[in-house]
Amino acid sequence: MIVAIDGPAGAGKSTVARNLAGRLGFRYLDTGAMYRALTWLAMREGLPLAEAEPIGELARRNPVVFDDAGRVSIAGADVTAAIRQARIDRMVSVVARHHDVREVMRERQRDLGHQGNVVIEGRDIGTVVAPDAEVKIYLQADPDIRARRRQAERPDIGADALATDLRARDKLDRERMQPAEDAVLIDTTDLEVDDVVTRIEALIRERALTTQ
Ligand code: C5P
Repeated sequence: MIVAIDGPAGAGKSTVARNLAGRLGFRYLDTGAMYRALTWLAMREGLPLAEAEPIGELARRNPVVFDDAGRVSIAGADVTAAIRQARIDRMVSVVARHHDVREVMRERQRDLGHQGNVVIEGRDIGTVVAPDAEVKIYLQADPDIRARRRQAERPDIGADALATDLRARDKLDRERMQPAEDAVLIDTTDLEVDDVVTRIEALIRERALTTQ
């Protein structure tokens, strides 16, 4: 079974998806980490991030690897911590926009996603990567709350700068952030992580019963 969890930054995707996968004993795939790792590598190589061809080529030659503990590597470097820096937050949407990059990433995501039960989080999972997902969730939340949650993860950045970064990223990501028509929308503004996970778990059980 594939559970797709899409939505904007700060809506709670990662925490919810990771917890849900833990509870269900499913694998967890963080597709944002793949675009982040590629961005990290492109910056290290000093490539022009806005140019499709060199970045697409870089993606083709350097698959992102996840180990069993969820660590992320690219080109032999463990980038698990480095990809959460604000400088990556700011540039990742520029890299993720390239058609060639998305082709490479989506193909790999489909490979990784079709190896048994999995929770996949991203922006385009329910719409493009896994339109066949049995359960599709779209998480959303009030922009102020999303900025505040991000702030807790990026204590080195001021609140105003962070809110500005988030708005800029939303704008660039918007065309890929439409919920699938058959996605269940959950607003996490006033919900605890556990409540969201329990709600999705209930949906999965319901879905599993009706498709048996
Ligand atoms: O979810 P996360 O904040 O880690 O995603 C980082 C960025 O990667 C997003 O802002 C978006 O530009 C890109 N992304 C994407 N498609 C996905 C996942 C992430 O374009 N499926």
